[in-house]
Amino acid sequence: MQHSTKPQIVVIGGGFAGMACVRALRYADAEIKLVDRRNFHVFQPLLYQVATGGLSPANIAAPLRSIFKKQKNVQVLMAGVDGFDMAKRSVVLDDKSELPFDYLVLATGSTHHYFGRDADWEPLAPGLKTIEDATEIRSRLLTAFETAEETYDPGATSREIGRPV
Ligand SMILES: Cc1cc2nc3c(=O)[nH]c(=O)nc-3n(C[C@H](O)[C@H](O)[C@H](O)COP(=O)(O)OP(=O)(O)OC[C@H]3O[C@@H](n4cnc5c(N)ncnc54)[C@H](O)[C@@H]3O)c2cc1C
Repeated sequence: MQHSTKPQIVVIGGGFAGMACVRALRYADAEIKLVDRRNFHVFQPLLYQVATGGLSPANIAAPLRSIFKKQKNVQVLMAGVDGFDMAKRSVVLDDKSELPFDYLVLATGSTHHYFGRDADWEPLAPGLKTIEDATEIRSRLLTAFETAEETYDPGATSREIGRPV
């Protein structure tokens, strides 16, 4: 592969922020690499609908390569980012390979937390930031309805009648 003389821009994260950044750079005379551990964008505001069975995961996810297929200066890479070598100006990926950059944009989003009560609250209230979180919650909800179908005791919990919640 020939080494390019164009500025190398690495954008980490294909959420709203990373996508907006890449889109804003559409006329830049540069080579952009959009790196995300998933090769699809998740429309997070609709995760609730997936978690409650109103939509399927495919309805709220879109492949990043399709989104940017007309933008010639961007390449989408599916990889997790493990760290950075700032002296070498490179991103360290989860396979330990390195991605050099002239400009780096971090748009990796945020996650939920439990104010130090992880052990108490996490099992009862999972996060809702990913498709996996949403399908886990959907599974718990639907299983709870199935459990309710099988009991006449209004006070029974799924655990009491031997079903996983
Ligand atoms: C359930 C829910 C409902 C919401 N409803 C609304 C709403 O109604 N209105 C509104 O304005 N906002 C809403 N929000 C908030 C909004 O969706 C978020 O603020 C927005 O999605 C954040 O975008 P982001 O690009 O900063 O991060 P994200 O969308 O989280 O994107 C971060 C990306 O970085 C990637 N990434 C993270 N770490 C790494 C790594 N180490 N290596 C590689 N890739 C990595 C992730 O895979 C992800 O694709 C909602 C959020 C949730 C969770």
